[in-house]
Amino acid sequence: MPIHQLSETMINQIAAGEVIERPASVVKELVENALDAHASRVEIVTAGGGLNLIRVTDDGAGISERELGLAVARHCTSKLSDDIHDIRSLGFRGEALPSIGSVARLSIRSRTATSDNAAEIGIDGGRVSPVRPAAANRGTTVEVRDLFFATPARLKFMKGERAETAATSDVVKRISIAFPSVRFTLAGTDRSTLELAAADGSPDGRLRRIAQVMGADFPQNSIAIDAEREGVRLQGHVSIPSFTRANALQQYAYVNGRPVRDKLIAGAIRGAFVDVLPRDRHAVAVLFLTLDPATVDVNVHPAKADVRFRDPGLVRGLIVGAIREGLGAAGIRAATTGAAGMMAAFRPGFGSYDRGGPSNAHRSYDATSRSSATGYDPARSSQRPLDMDFRNGFGESPQSGFDADAMLSADSRAGQNEAPEALLGTQLGAARAQVHQNYIVAQTNDSLVIVDQHAAHERLVYEALKNALYSRALPSQMLLLPEIVDLPEDDAERLALHSETLACFGLRLERFGPGAVAVRETPAMLGEVDTQKLVRDLADEIADNDTTETLKERLHHIAATMACHGSVRSGRLLKPDEMNALLRQMEATPGSGTCNHGRPTYIELKLADIERLFGRR
Ligand code: ADP
Ligand code: MG
Repeated sequence: MPIHQLSETMINQIAAGEVIERPASVVKELVENALDAHASRVEIVTAGGGLNLIRVTDDGAGISERELGLAVARHCTSKLSDDIHDIRSLGFRGEALPSIGSVARLSIRSRTATSDNAAEIGIDGGRVSPVRPAAANRGTTVEVRDLFFATPARLKFMKGERAETAATSDVVKRISIAFPSVRFTLAGTDRSTLELAAADGSPDGRLRRIAQVMGADFPQNSIAIDAEREGVRLQGHVSIPSFTRANALQQYAYVNGRPVRDKLIAGAIRGAFVDVLPRDRHAVAVLFLTLDPATVDVNVHPAKADVRFRDPGLVRGLIVGAIREGLGAAGIRAATTGAAGMMAAFRPGFGSYDRGGPSNAHRSYDATSRSSATGYDPARSSQRPLDMDFRNGFGESPQSGFDADAMLSADSRAGQNEAPEALLGTQLGAARAQVHQNYIVAQTNDSLVIVDQHAAHERLVYEALKNALYSRALPSQMLLLPEIVDLPEDDAERLALHSETLACFGLRLERFGPGAVAVRETPAMLGEVDTQKLVRDLADEIADNDTTETLKERLHHIAATMACHGSVRSGRLLKPDEMNALLRQMEATPGSGTCNHGRPTYIELKLADIERLFGRR
């Protein structure tokens, strides 16, 4: 075939291949146009998942009769002059409308503030019809019917109506967060209607919109972020570490008000939470970056959701630093959602007796009491409280170590003592009892606090390991005989390569022939550990993360793996002084509101809520 110029329609269809991927992309483009026209109301209606019909109506500036023809012509835009580096609108490429018109039946009816009449234009699979007069209020209505009728191949790739509707809803939610003062409605044939009332543009209004879109529990379980570095401003909210999701879909990022999906931002969020979240959990976040348009390129892809920063390191550093700082400043905070779940769990409690039956209840009581008689073995030193002294600064009970008698009497005493007045005013309160050998029940002036002692202690050990790491090498304890650990050769090699790093933590090991390492010293902080298991876990940990992580991240992961081995097992009885010391230490340790796996280390139930449970309020 000789070289020839493609027809206008062909060119538009090729562009549509990138810009208009599915119904949700049409909605995105049309809503962007409405917002660029300064609309205060945007109404969206779809049918058949958007494949039959998409109609977007706005009350914005409108398009004059004279310009309607240009609006649907390729490369025609009112938004870009001659500086590609100064983009302040959502659109700028002048190709959405002609692209849509080339693959669907498009009609635009519009009226500006200064004209008495509306006008209408249509394009049908690329064929433009003449402008004709119409009746309409101020603003614009764009209707798209039979999407992809002109490109049946694309039509075949569409998922079911439900999936397309969901994608459309996500687009609207995403963009609505950046425009809290605009009212959005989305109605589909499946009767699921999204209605986002206009809020004001203040931080409060913005938060209200975020709550409308992401659920009311997100603001309650989030930390506000506001930071600036070298002219780049970061604002928004991130979830506290105990409020997470199984995927990153609930992370919304905006650059100069434009919703973006950016790997750098997603990576920075992950980096900021690496200490406090397990690998398979993801924070919920809404982040707004504001920066000089000249320092960010949005012209990366026709869909305009990708960006490139001129200084990626600055942006990453700002995000990681600001989130970490926010998490640190928030200190320990339990998820109120945990308490809400607890409230919910209590309510059906009235009926649980029926389900389990009395004999069942009795059996479980029996099992508990038996295990409490045998579960703690004072001779097993691995359950000792390590080098971390809970009594530090609380000089009341200087003796360390364990003796079963003291333990039992301490345990029976715990519930009887009046809580010391001063402790009631602290954040985690006065310890009143330990139940099921792992849960510390404490009382504050206005709440009941339950601490998971194993999780809390693991977190404290982790923080202590990390701190010690930066101040000095950690003390180790020499084993009487070196312990030989047999491992796959790869693992042995990897451990040997990292032996210097491990030595910083007080773990000294060396190669011991093929497929083995000899461990000579273990970290004193961990007490007596299962060396074999510790070394194997570390080998796994290093194999998993070696290539992907920075040295610092790697050290933190090693610390977390070690902390897991050194923490107080559930099952260890604690004396009241020890419990109180643990609570005080939690209060003093940043990040101790969650364990290393991101689960809460304590939950708090307000007295008011307890009273509600008993019908007193
Ligand atoms: P772009 O948004 O990149 O400029 P489009 O093809 O989406 O390109 O739109 C072309 C032009 O049509 C816009 O620049 C704008 O002037 C006009 N336009 C489109 N939609 C609207 C609307 N809802 N209200 C007012 N003007 C609109
Ligand atoms: Mg546009």
